[in-house]
Amino acid sequence: MVNKERMLNTFMEYVRIDSETKNEKAIGERIIKDLKDLCLETYTDRAGEKLSSNGNNIYCFIPGTSDSKSMLFSAHMDTVVPGVGIEPYIDGEYVKSRGNTILGGDDKAGVVAILEAVRTLKESNLPHRPIEIVFSICEEGGINGAKEVEFSKLKSTAGVILDSGGSPGEIIVEAPGQTKLFAKVIGKAAHAGAHPEKGVSAIMVAAEAISEMKLLRVDNETTANIGTFKSEGPTNIVSPLVEIIAEARSRSTEKLNKQTEHMVECLKKS
Ligand SMILES: [Zn+2]
Repeated sequence: MVNKERMLNTFMEYVRIDSETKNEKAIGERIIKDLKDLCLETYTDRAGEKLSSNGNNIYCFIPGTSDSKSMLFSAHMDTVVPGVGIEPYIDGEYVKSRGNTILGGDDKAGVVAILEAVRTLKESNLPHRPIEIVFSICEEGGINGAKEVEFSKLKSTAGVILDSGGSPGEIIVEAPGQTKLFAKVIGKAAHAGAHPEKGVSAIMVAAEAISEMKLLRVDNETTANIGTFKSEGPTNIVSPLVEIIAEARSRSTEKLNKQTEHMVECLKKS
C-alpha cells in the first residue's frame, strides 16, 4: 500500500529544495539519491547544456516482474518563480506555502507520486510491468527539457505524465494544438446619411467573412470560435474598423493548419 505519511514527508522535503527552471541540479541529486536508496540505477542526459540549466533529465528503468510492454511515467522537476526559499506548512487538508513564494506542487507532487509508487512496488513485491521514468528539467516556459529527452533510451509506447490540475483520477489524454487569429478589417468611413455609397462598412465585410467560416465543431478533432468582434462608432458613420479575435484548435496539426488557412481565406475574400 501507498504510505501517505511517507509521501507527504517527502513532498515537504522536496518543495523546500529550490528548483526554479534552469536550477534543477539540487532536486535532481536528491531524486538520484532516493532512487539509489531503493537500489535503482539512474541515467542522466546532457539536456542542461543545451538549455543553459545546471540540471539534466533523469531516467530510471525498472525491470518488470513479467516481460509485458513497458510503461513510461514522467514529471518535471522545475518550478515557476518565485520559488526560492519555499516554506511549506500543512493547513487542514492542504499543503500551503508560507511567505511570498509559490508552493511548487507543480510538479513536485508528480515527482513524489512517482517516487512513492516505486517505493511501494519495491517493498510490496507486487507484480508489475517494466517501468521507465523520466524526470525532466525546464518544463515551465516551453516543455524544453522533454524536447531534449533521449527517446532512443525509451522503449515504452505509452506513458503517463503526472502534471495537471483536476481531481485525482482525471486523465488528460491529448492536448490540442491551437492557433490564435487577430484580424483587423479596415473599411472606409463616410457619412451614413449623406454619402453612404462613399463608404465601405467594415462591419458588413467582417460579418460576411464570418458567415462563410466553418466554426464551432469543425470535425471530431477540430474546433474554431470567434471570441471578439469589436467595432464602436456612431450610427451616422459607415464603420471603418472591426477587430476580430478568433481561435482554432485541433488534435491534428494538419487539420489545424487547414482550419486556420480557411479562416484567413474567408477574411481575405470578403
Ligand atoms: Zn507542471
